Amino acid sequence: MSEEQKTVKAIDGPTRLEYRYSPGRASTRFLRGMEQKKILGQKCVGCGRVYVPPRGACARCGLPTEEEVEVQDTGTIVTFTIVRVPSQNIEIELPYCAASILLDGADIPFTALLRDVPVETVRLGMRVQGVWKPDAELGPSFDNIDHFTALDEPDVPFEKFQEHL
Ligand SMILES: [Zn+2]
Repeated sequence: MSEEQKTVKAIDGPTRLEYRYSPGRASTRFLRGMEQKKILGQKCVGCGRVYVPPRGACARCGLPTEEEVEVQDTGTIVTFTIVRVPSQNIEIELPYCAASILLDGADIPFTALLRDVPVETVRLGMRVQGVWKPDAELGPSFDNIDHFTALDEPDVPFEKFQEHL
């Protein structure tokens, strides 16, 4: 087969997109709280679910979430992934754990990096706590919590968080 007839199987197409958006009222309150190491969620007036970060409305009821609720920086792992495959844009030593964490006082989990914990010991129900950046580095960002790490507390039984997966 000549060089001209060989099929091209893949090409690299580097793409980069930058977004700039207005966070709106709910996210602004949340981000201002994060500057002061406060995690502010919002409670739905219909079902009572606490959203962190708040979006201004309940995804289940469609109602506004106007009541502000401060939640803790401690929580429970409700599911997790051990990442063993390198990615060009992630510079974290492999393997690492991306955990879905339900903060104490919240009803919706979010994904965060778990560190300083051997990946083979990560499990559902494991108790964790956020590790904040130094005060001088705090800004209006969820990244103020650099990562989560294990808490020396008993695991939470599956029945207690199964509604929040
Ligand atoms: Zn609701």
